[in-house]
Amino acid sequence: MPPAPFESPLRTTPQRVAILNALSAAEAFLTAQEIHDRLRADGKRVGLATVYRTLQALASTGVLDVLRNDDGEAIYRRCATPDHHHHLVCRSCGQSVEIASDAVETWADRTARRNGYTSVTHTVEVYGLCRGCS
Ligand SMILES: [Zn+2]
Ligand SMILES: [Zn+2]
Ligand SMILES: [Zn+2]
Repeated sequence: MPPAPFESPLRTTPQRVAILNALSAAEAFLTAQEIHDRLRADGKRVGLATVYRTLQALASTGVLDVLRNDDGEAIYRRCATPDHHHHLVCRSCGQSVEIASDAVETWADRTARRNGYTSVTHTVEVYGLCRGCS
């Protein structure tokens, strides 16, 4: 078998474009299944396995933010900013707000330094119920 052709992470395919468009229209973090449902509602014929694969590829390039919901399932969103940020996420409907917090950044840096850790990263998300779901 010939070797698989090199696949650039940002190569444009119709599936990728459709998935990014579906996510751009969403204010919420969505599961792969929910994204698949939206594509089908739009008349796009994309298999669920392809949606999973494409989401993983996009998330690995940093184009998408990926979190875990309460069930441990991956949820995806295309965020407005590529810069480091955190999220306030509704655990019922997935609606989310991007948040920045100097207090969190300072605390993480200081905690790491005090314990002699370098090359530190962190993930901080705040989960709750949005206005509509409360
Ligand atoms: Zn984000
Ligand atoms: Zn909600
Ligand atoms: Zn941070």
